[in-house]
Amino acid sequence: MRLGGIVDTSTVDWYGNVSLVVFMAGCNFRCPYCQNSTLLPFDSGEEVDLSYIRRRIEVNMSPVPQLDAIVISGGEPTLQPEAVKEVATLARSFGLKVMLDTNGSRPDAVEPLLSAGIVDRVALDVKAPLISDEYGRVAGLSGDAGSVVEGVARTLDLCERYGVEVEARTTVAPTVSDTKAFIGSIAKSIEGRCDSYYLQQFDNTGEVLSPELKALKPPSREKLVELAASALREGVREVCIKTRKVGLERIG
Ligand code: SF4
Repeated sequence: MRLGGIVDTSTVDWYGNVSLVVFMAGCNFRCPYCQNSTLLPFDSGEEVDLSYIRRRIEVNMSPVPQLDAIVISGGEPTLQPEAVKEVATLARSFGLKVMLDTNGSRPDAVEPLLSAGIVDRVALDVKAPLISDEYGRVAGLSGDAGSVVEGVARTLDLCERYGVEVEARTTVAPTVSDTKAFIGSIAKSIEGRCDSYYLQQFDNTGEVLSPELKALKPPSREKLVELAASALREGVREVCIKTRKVGLERIG
């Protein structure tokens, strides 16, 4: 598999769990706020085999187990479906829970993982209202994004069908995704279809894809609270905000 990196013990990627986070390389989107832009090319990262991941789990599980879970992230991990399956199955053999972090555009790759019962939670990026033009703009796609929108909607449906928890997420970035109407419209399309909705503060400290965006300040915590209120007004339950300074906060 093409591996972008590993974080051994994260407490922020799956709230309430200590997770090993596997970042797979390669992505089919080009979101201007992407912080992992060096991982976007399909030939980025390094080639490793499953024994490498096994060793990293073992190091963190003995002599005292430190992990509850594994988070499979990227990039877009479903571009390497066999690798995701192998890593999730390996995690299961250590008794770990599994979260898949995906942009939702590849439901055909997600379904076998859900039907096999090897994923406990899906963290699904819902980048924009489920409208082709808007989605294409925020995901940095050229051409019609209709099939991507259908893919995200289908991924939501699959999670419901297989009874897998969904954490929907939107990154709030200035000039891209930071208005009440924008967040309210996303909220309307996911209401009743996710267990929680996280608004993540754009962070300009990493390898941000858009130089224009990198030069802008992240939205304030107060702005995120306002936007969370817009989502709550649409009936979404368990709305949280995630900021660099305070971390995760439940707003309603
Ligand atoms: S933020 Fe966008 S471009 Fe970056 S890894 Fe996620 S889906 Fe891909």
